[in-house]
Amino acid sequence: MRPEVNGERLLRRLSDFAEIGKTKAGGVNRQALSSEDRAARRLLADLVTARGFNVFQDAIANLFVRREGRDATRPAMLIGSHLDSQPTGGRFDGALGTLAAFEVLEALEDADHETASAIEVVAWTNEEGSRFAPGVMGSMAFVGAAHPDDFRSVVSGDGESFGQELAATLAALPEATMRPLGTPISAYLELHIEQGPSLEREGLAAGVVTAVQGTRWLAVTFSGSAGHAGTTSLAYRRDPMVAATSALNRLQMSIMPQDDDARLTVGRFSTHPGSINAIPDHVTFTVDIRHPDALSLAAIEARIRAVCEEAALSQRCSVEISTSFDMPPGSFSKVMTDRIETAARALALPYKHMISGAFHDALFVSRVAPTAMIFVPCRDGVSHNETEYVEPAHAINGARLLLAATLESVCSLLVIV
Ligand SMILES: [Zn+2]
Repeated sequence: MRPEVNGERLLRRLSDFAEIGKTKAGGVNRQALSSEDRAARRLLADLVTARGFNVFQDAIANLFVRREGRDATRPAMLIGSHLDSQPTGGRFDGALGTLAAFEVLEALEDADHETASAIEVVAWTNEEGSRFAPGVMGSMAFVGAAHPDDFRSVVSGDGESFGQELAATLAALPEATMRPLGTPISAYLELHIEQGPSLEREGLAAGVVTAVQGTRWLAVTFSGSAGHAGTTSLAYRRDPMVAATSALNRLQMSIMPQDDDARLTVGRFSTHPGSINAIPDHVTFTVDIRHPDALSLAAIEARIRAVCEEAALSQRCSVEISTSFDMPPGSFSKVMTDRIETAARALALPYKHMISGAFHDALFVSRVAPTAMIFVPCRDGVSHNETEYVEPAHAINGARLLLAATLESVCSLLVIV
């Protein structure tokens, strides 16, 4: 019997998981290592136990579901994504990739299909980075780019420490066998929603992702001198708000208008003391910059630093800029993208090659194993939003493509080995 995706089951699982952390507007708030995240892990673990698969976790609470293959000594093929969400997130970002991967295991089990090596599903810890920055902590720790101890003292906006929440999350799943970080894998495939509009507009079923653009996060703090809004005349002001807004205006008018591939976003902005009738003494904002080319990304950061220094000087203020996250651009494995294309052709699913604008765990995993991603269309390209929506047919076709590409890879990689 040929393994087949059970579309109805996949859609049911998607709506079951969307109940966990459900928001009024129909999205989810299931931030990393929260009680909602733990509830989603619990549900997955219960499904795993019911199907007779084995569940594992590592020191950063990456969750693995293993279906054994013929040869237990060979490294497993890994598929999956993440279960955490943005605070006002959608029900498909991450969940679709994780549950489609689980559907692959169930489809294989239903068909009693033996694979040459084990296949494992992974749910990476803290992909989003909204509650504990930075994002993709789980995959960074998995590939050795960071250690869980590096993040233990990170505190969330609700005052919880990463270390404590990590310990509570690990303890909440006692049936999961602990395994070392970075257990070897033969390859990694991740299915994800596009988070952009191009597949939907072009009427395509899938994107074969060949590369991911680089991302850097900066924290910028302008410091000046607090003063009375009514009595401090212009000559006596050292106003960090004037410096910050003029710097931002210059950057927003130049960086993206001059380079179609560049992205610059200021998502957080705060002042201290934040009083209506006082000149602030500090103004802080975050900057998220992205580019597919490493040198261009570095040039954008250098320009931000230079413009901020100039703006600070012009207001007799000072500025400090720190980098909190730096993910270089990366390319995926040609072997793996070829496997996805072979599978897409076999299923007659129209596709195109794409570069991912968002970062993903797959980018770090590509450092240790042949890796690629599959994108499926989402309505109007909307993501990180409670209205995020994926047509049932696109979700099911994505899972079918993941299943076919996984089988293609398990066989082919073993031949290569
Ligand atoms: Zn995601």
